[in-house]
Amino acid sequence: MHRRFVPAARGTTNALSPPTALAALSALAVLSAGSVTPAAAQPAAGQGAPAPREVTAAEARTDAYLNPVRDRPGPPRDFFVRLPKGGDLHNHLSGAVSAEYLIELAAEGGLCIDTATTTAVTPPCGPGTRPAADARTDRAFHDALVRAWSMEGFPPGQSGHDHFFATFGKFGEVTWRHRGRMLAEVADDVVRQNQFHPETMVAPASDGARRLADEVGRDDDLAALHRKPVAGGKLDEPVAEARKEAVGAARTERAGHGVDLVHEDDWQQTARTTAARRIAVEVPFTSNAQILGGKGADHPFTVYRRYGVPVVLATDDPGVSRTGISHEYAYAAAAYGLGCPG
Ligand SMILES: [Zn+2]
Repeated sequence: MHRRFVPAARGTTNALSPPTALAALSALAVLSAGSVTPAAAQPAAGQGAPAPREVTAAEARTDAYLNPVRDRPGPPRDFFVRLPKGGDLHNHLSGAVSAEYLIELAAEGGLCIDTATTTAVTPPCGPGTRPAADARTDRAFHDALVRAWSMEGFPPGQSGHDHFFATFGKFGEVTWRHRGRMLAEVADDVVRQNQFHPETMVAPASDGARRLADEVGRDDDLAALHRKPVAGGKLDEPVAEARKEAVGAARTERAGHGVDLVHEDDWQQTARTTAARRIAVEVPFTSNAQILGGKGADHPFTVYRRYGVPVVLATDDPGVSRTGISHEYAYAAAAYGLGCPG
């Protein structure tokens, strides 16, 4: 969900693993840059990019298989599903599961749908709403919800930014109630996609903000609204949380998205520093394209690789994007001609 070149851990917590998952990178970055990029291709050679290493026998066999099939029409999907992929290091739990699964959770929980906004709301189902359970039998209602709660059917080539981020508000009443079951669903998908490192993010501060908003209440006088939580000391906890996060950011090990790199001042120095500090950039191609339109030659992926920046493929919000980690690998192989190792 992050839109800029920011530390991925800001405001989030890794639900299933310690934040030092960088150690797993060498295993998961089968198609990623860095350790196997020819030194001559790196402008920053000798300034942080690691020395090239030997290609393993398994990597050579995989490349021999992949080479003849990579350019055939239609990606070899089964190959990328079975390819061991380590972990998806940029995955938000709230956007990770399918719209169909969220609809079923809403139906089970007796939630209602505001029909004007396709937003899940608490029962009882009053005027202008209908039970989410109707989606089990009303196909048109079900499909309309899937489109509203994900990028399904979104016209390609149009800016999906607003639709993408609006989905979280529409299904938010479902996701905050079912973190455990959604986590189980994510873990199942880790197995289905032949990964061995489950990792997803939640934003604990959002629960606190929701409670604070309920407690403080609404006031159209914004100055008065601002004074209320300050006077009551209610902001102390969120501020302390933010400070802790800022300290953590100073030890950043990974950066989320990073599609804006080449538009920043002195981006070459940023790229060199990122490579020298071995900060991995998490790249979710589908999400980047849906939100920002950056794809193929527009994406700084090749720049990262040229500078020796570690790059890991990720999904961001696979449920919203209607994608999965295997698809991201298939896309990277086809769009950038990657082999194994990258
Ligand atoms: Zn994100």
